[in-house]
Amino acid sequence: MTDETKKKLDEFFGTFSRGKSPLLLLDYDGTLAPFRVDRTKAHPWTGVREAMARIQHQGRTRMVVITGRPAKEIGPLLRSYSPLLDAPLEVWGLHGAERLHPDGKRELEQAPPDTQRRLDELREHLRHSNLGGQFEDKPNAAVMHWRGASPRTAKFIEARTREIFEPMSRLEGLTLLEFEGGLELRVGRNKGGAVAALVAETAPGTPVAYVGDDLTDEAAFIAINKATGPHLSVLMRPDPRETAADLWMRPPTEMRGFLKKWMKALD
Ligand SMILES: [Mg+2]
Repeated sequence: MTDETKKKLDEFFGTFSRGKSPLLLLDYDGTLAPFRVDRTKAHPWTGVREAMARIQHQGRTRMVVITGRPAKEIGPLLRSYSPLLDAPLEVWGLHGAERLHPDGKRELEQAPPDTQRRLDELREHLRHSNLGGQFEDKPNAAVMHWRGASPRTAKFIEARTREIFEPMSRLEGLTLLEFEGGLELRVGRNKGGAVAALVAETAPGTPVAYVGDDLTDEAAFIAINKATGPHLSVLMRPDPRETAADLWMRPPTEMRGFLKKWMKALD
């Protein structure tokens, strides 16, 4: 960690004062947990769950997970093996198109009927012909993954996917979302929209932070950077890249360290 990083962290945590309930927004895959080919086995890094549980137990932070996955997948991954978390967390899924409240109430953004029909037809087509990649079927999106494929195969899958997804992305209500090792054609708000909605719900002056690793998190960093109160955006990733985030940190050690500092700042 550089002196500059330390300074920015200290500045941000210095704004935590008694009575304030800071907002901590966390991406899941790559940020709290390593990537696994079998996504159901992507459990958080050692110590991360425990640190999150301590923050929750402390009762001062509003903690929300914002993920590209369907929201319901996150609870079991955070709670399995040891039920450390006192209560379910709020999770925004499908990159922000879905909101799952801690009490189980679920909101899902609706697409215009025509757009939904075209998207459903494409999903049906890709269930039978996956273009050589890994097709992920989401209610609001068709997703093609090529993470793990050889560079040559990946290039081929990407080209075929773009041929289909790009013309469709010009239809009303559909957008293309690029992430590392894949492409998503989707309806609904993105992570930036989710962050903006959550920040709008906080009291003025509330410290807010977002931690994420992927290209899809850039919209969230930009939304956090626009907050009028104290704010911090963190790119959590093994290697640096061009980013809108304030800081770059390396998982898992610095992720654990960040959560520990967060908790200490509220003690
Ligand atoms: Mg991620």
